[in-house]
Amino acid sequence: MRTFQAIASPLRRISPIAVHQGARRCFSKSQNLQATWGFIGLGRMGFPMAKNLRTKLPAGDVLFIQDVNKDATKKFLEENPNGVRIADNVREVAEKSETIITVLPEPHHVAGVYKSMIEPPNLLKDGFITKERLFIDCSTIDPMTSRSVADAAHSSGQGKFIDAPMSGGVVGAQAGTLTFMIGAAPEVVDRATEILSMMGRRVLHLGDQGSGLHGKLANNYLLALNNIATAEAMNMGIQWGLDPKALAGVINISTGKCWPSEVNNPVPGVIEGAPAGRDYEGGFGVALANKDLKLAIKACKEHGIKTALGDQAKAFYDEVEAAPNCKGRDFSVVYRHLGGKE
Ligand code: NAD
Repeated sequence: MRTFQAIASPLRRISPIAVHQGARRCFSKSQNLQATWGFIGLGRMGFPMAKNLRTKLPAGDVLFIQDVNKDATKKFLEENPNGVRIADNVREVAEKSETIITVLPEPHHVAGVYKSMIEPPNLLKDGFITKERLFIDCSTIDPMTSRSVADAAHSSGQGKFIDAPMSGGVVGAQAGTLTFMIGAAPEVVDRATEILSMMGRRVLHLGDQGSGLHGKLANNYLLALNNIATAEAMNMGIQWGLDPKALAGVINISTGKCWPSEVNNPVPGVIEGAPAGRDYEGGFGVALANKDLKLAIKACKEHGIKTALGDQAKAFYDEVEAAPNCKGRDFSVVYRHLGGKE
């Protein structure tokens, strides 16, 4: 049997020292030149990621930041005054940076930001950047949009574009322990891995451009379904009279075990520290879970891939997202929407 490492490029984990040394070798044309970086999208994920990046970069490097939310860039500069510049717009970020990282909410934001960065294409060849630009998009979007952005960047010779969606949530972004799933041409994998290792713990190369998103969406599709199934199973067992902890104990040593049953159990009090125990606050928001599910369904439809449960699950999450007592809460709140005993 082939192992994961045999069918995909090896999981690379690089120590901070190796990253630091690699970065200096990689990004400067000579020992004297400092590297330039761009970061666009300083939201819940991007802000702490950019902070970790800035902390790990050599002092002389410059990080150009941009966000439509001016409060975010102002706050970032206040908290990280050294080696950070607020760019006037995303085009300026692209012009001045060798490596540009984007962490944006939806496909249309990514498409719009990249259009502004790479059009017209001639300007990017001017200026002081002589190294080929690397665009790293960490947003969770549909693979079709990502592919069209990559094609535009590549066909106009603006640089290499890779998809690098992530898992680990805001807690992982703050702690620098994210997992990145990257879709990248082989020649940029090492460079991308060094960079992303400054913001995360694991970088998994899944194949060519688009593969990172395919991996992320397949996983989050499964997660969305497991989450509902766990809530249903817990609810039925409790309604039949079983003790919630005893039921979870059975499931978690049996074939039904999954992340929602073991780590993020939807029944309050079953797993200490899970969002269910704090009125479903924090965690993985139901809107984000539904967003990823919808992206996975869309990508399946575009490829003619049949799914049995996706549309039904989406309709259920739509209801949960709209319910006043569930809206904005961790996605395990589906248990509440099923009428589960809390
Ligand atoms: P967010 O809404 O908190 O942040 C997005 C940021 O992008 C905001 O600051 C917004 O002002 C900025 N932005 C929007 N349009 C822009 C534009 N045109 N130019 C510049 N900046 C712009 O979102 P988030 O929670 O940080 O998530 C970002 C991405 O990461 C999403 O694709 C999400 O699905 C994915 N993701 C999020 C999590 C999570 O737990 N929050 C986990 C994994 C992946």
